[in-house]
Amino acid sequence: MSAARRAIDPVDADRPDDRLASRQADRPADRNADRPDVRPGRRQLLLAGVAGLGGLALAGCTANGNTGSAQSNPSSTGGVGATTTPGTGSPTRGGTPTAGGQAAARPSAVVMHGRASVPVLCYHQVRPYAGDDTAYVRSMLVIPPEKFAAQLAGIKAAGYTAISPQQYRDHLFAGAALPAKPVVLSFDDGKDNQFQQAMPALRKHGMTGVFFIMTVVLGQRGWMTKDDVKKLVDAGMSVGSHTWDHHMVTKYSGTDYTTQLVASRELLSGLSGQDVVDFAYPYGAWNTAILPHLTAAGYRTAYQLMDKPLDVKRPELSLRRILAVSTWTGPEVVAKLDAFARDAPSRS
Ligand SMILES: [Zn+2]
Repeated sequence: MSAARRAIDPVDADRPDDRLASRQADRPADRNADRPDVRPGRRQLLLAGVAGLGGLALAGCTANGNTGSAQSNPSSTGGVGATTTPGTGSPTRGGTPTAGGQAAARPSAVVMHGRASVPVLCYHQVRPYAGDDTAYVRSMLVIPPEKFAAQLAGIKAAGYTAISPQQYRDHLFAGAALPAKPVVLSFDDGKDNQFQQAMPALRKHGMTGVFFIMTVVLGQRGWMTKDDVKKLVDAGMSVGSHTWDHHMVTKYSGTDYTTQLVASRELLSGLSGQDVVDFAYPYGAWNTAILPHLTAAGYRTAYQLMDKPLDVKRPELSLRRILAVSTWTGPEVVAKLDAFARDAPSRS
């Protein structure tokens, strides 16, 4: 665990009471983030209602926590799916191949690598800072609406066009043309302020985004509802999976593949009406062993953060993202996008 990760890792402070602690199997992996929406009077309700989901938000998606060693509750990893599996299918390793992952031929890795040059921004919460937000949270995980709007305005003013993950996929797999300066705007986890703040701001700026949602939180206080998922799509947004409960993919075994990959994809596909085939790794953490499982589960792309290069053989399952910093001005965000595009392999 890095120092930065530890700094926003209030595990002890967020530890549920004994009654809740007994429900290890229900506890999401990432309850070690900030608790921005948990204010006095709400926290107990939240804890009681969702067994510790109050802390489940953000740190998992930070660049500092992706080594696979920072789980607050690693012992529960293997058993999560056993008692609360929300999905379908038999508990086979790798799940059942579905149409989404098998629909199209795949170009060579070299070609794919050359096309994987679109900058992708990763946001988490769009809301005013809360009094208990740490400095790290304020910088990396929460962006106030006015700062978010300024970043969007800057991106737009610089001539960037927000594209959907499908457009990026079509480019990766088929070489479809993209705008001159494409960017993908992504949002991880599924907090309700993404629906309430980010989506309207995107629409106001004529932009689209992709929302990577972990399905366990849907309908819980502070998180999107199932109806919100459909409304996002109706508003021109896209939906991707961020697993069921944010467990790190590098730690899966047994039924985890079905629970985390297959069932979350099927649920989100059903709710959104989209064939959900885009995936974002919790914590940004991944390894080559998970890649065939993603394909078998029906995913065609997967997004990490910036810590590893593209996978040599499966670049489309290791797409890199820039974790947006809330203090960046519009021009500063643009500079990051420009640098990403410049440093990426030349687009074919
Ligand atoms: Zn996340």
